Amino acid sequence: MKFASITTTTPSAESLDADYARLHAMLDRGTLGEALAAWEQIRRDIGTWSSMVELRFSQDTADADAKAAREYADALGPVITGHDTKLKQRLLALDPAPIEALYGRHALDIWRNDVTTFDPIIADDLEQEAKLSSDYTALLASAKIEFDGQTLNLAGLTPYGESMDRDMRHRAARARWAFFEKNADQLDDIYDRLVKRRDKMARALGDENFIALGYRRMGRLDYGPAEVATYRAEVLAHVVPLVAKIVDQRCRDNGLDHLYAWDEAIIDPAGNPKPQGDHDTLVAKANDMFAAMDGRIAAFYQQMNEGGFLDLQNRPTKRGGGFCTSFPSVGMPYIFANFNGTHHDINVFTHEMGHAFQNYQSRHQPALDYLWPTMESAEIHSMSLEFLAYPHLAPLLGAETARYRRMHLIGALEFLPYGVCVDHFQHEVYANPNATPTERHAMWHTLEKIYMPWRDWGDLSYPAKGARWQGQPHIYSAPFYYIDYTLAQCCALQFWVESEKDYRASFDTYVALCGLGGSAPFGGLVAAAKLQSPFKPGALRAVVAQAEATLAL
Ligand SMILES: [Zn+2]
Repeated sequence: MKFASITTTTPSAESLDADYARLHAMLDRGTLGEALAAWEQIRRDIGTWSSMVELRFSQDTADADAKAAREYADALGPVITGHDTKLKQRLLALDPAPIEALYGRHALDIWRNDVTTFDPIIADDLEQEAKLSSDYTALLASAKIEFDGQTLNLAGLTPYGESMDRDMRHRAARARWAFFEKNADQLDDIYDRLVKRRDKMARALGDENFIALGYRRMGRLDYGPAEVATYRAEVLAHVVPLVAKIVDQRCRDNGLDHLYAWDEAIIDPAGNPKPQGDHDTLVAKANDMFAAMDGRIAAFYQQMNEGGFLDLQNRPTKRGGGFCTSFPSVGMPYIFANFNGTHHDINVFTHEMGHAFQNYQSRHQPALDYLWPTMESAEIHSMSLEFLAYPHLAPLLGAETARYRRMHLIGALEFLPYGVCVDHFQHEVYANPNATPTERHAMWHTLEKIYMPWRDWGDLSYPAKGARWQGQPHIYSAPFYYIDYTLAQCCALQFWVESEKDYRASFDTYVALCGLGGSAPFGGLVAAAKLQSPFKPGALRAVVAQAEATLAL
């Protein structure tokens, strides 16, 4: 399978009308199996087309055609959702037994949830929401920062923020936040409009505010805000003190009398470990890493690489960050990233490969709804692979491997307070949709002091007054998504503890979990992988103990 050979058909409002009329006619005739199979094919074709449109735009945000295609897709999105919602409503009104026999009960639970998140009365709002998200993406991608005699985008600035030269780090942080401050009005305005638009949609659907709708949009079937609040409290009680100790240790190790925000990135006094080689070298040497891990993932990586399903190089006008998408009509995923020569390249590589491997392992699941699990489960696959790579990183990191592992572990632990802070912030924001931008900055400021009491922005006045969240795309584009990374991290850290006891058994459990895809809700997948639910107090106890021992705290 080659990426270049994938063909897509662009749907139109008319072609969709015809396609879905055909499905309804099949149901009229009572041929349920035929209708479900045809719907599956339609949804897979649409999935491939929309992934391709999103990918092309991400690969070059300055390409006018790609941008137009993305806007067309954004506009058509609610039309597609409208058809799917109507069909799901009709299927849900039928005798569930034959559908359950084909897909199991979970698909019906997913559809029952899905139909509560859409109504034609919010179609226009959804389109506006997608447009505002694109505006944020384009604004960040447009960054042209003059630094050190070069013009850099935000991703290009990152290595300078990790320089061993403290003044260089400080200047890089200043340049980064100057970009955000310069665009402050626009960043506040885009977010304000997103929050109000989302609140309006929720109220139109009968909710008090966006929180419940946000959870339903994330497809959370077996937990709610109360469970999430319990988990945040668990992180605050057990992980925040652990991270405070790590931060103190770092200050001592680096011989600093005080740690400013721009010093936090230097986890190791010898400098953050760097990958052994550039993009081409890493892509080639990754074969050895995956081969040492497991034959199944090694064969899959080779297929991804040789088929052209990787785009990992940073380029101007390319969208920042990394993601994995998939082309469900052909059963192959695709990895997008921006390698920048730092240790992030290794993180993003192993992380996105975890997503891709899960998606590939799930390709034969009977319903498209099972191709990806909900995000807190999907991130288990990606984050766990980062840990399962630990014993086999030498091809990419050489003598830096042990230092990388230590830094990665610290990064994973430090992420938890930040991640729950991002989540807590969003609960405050959507509970108070009419707050002013200044009040939102104050909310972040207060929460940052609770979850990251060590954070000191020094003379960087813009983040110091509570603007750090504006650099977090999920807050704009994917509300309530962020906690999913922390829930998954809690599970991935458990994979780390288990893999240190028995690597092979752990990897087999991992592959089996990947194969389950989204065929069960979060709690079901966690139980299938023999992990402790993050919502049970004490879920992080073994992890914290193992981390303290490993890091000699
Ligand atoms: Zn991910």
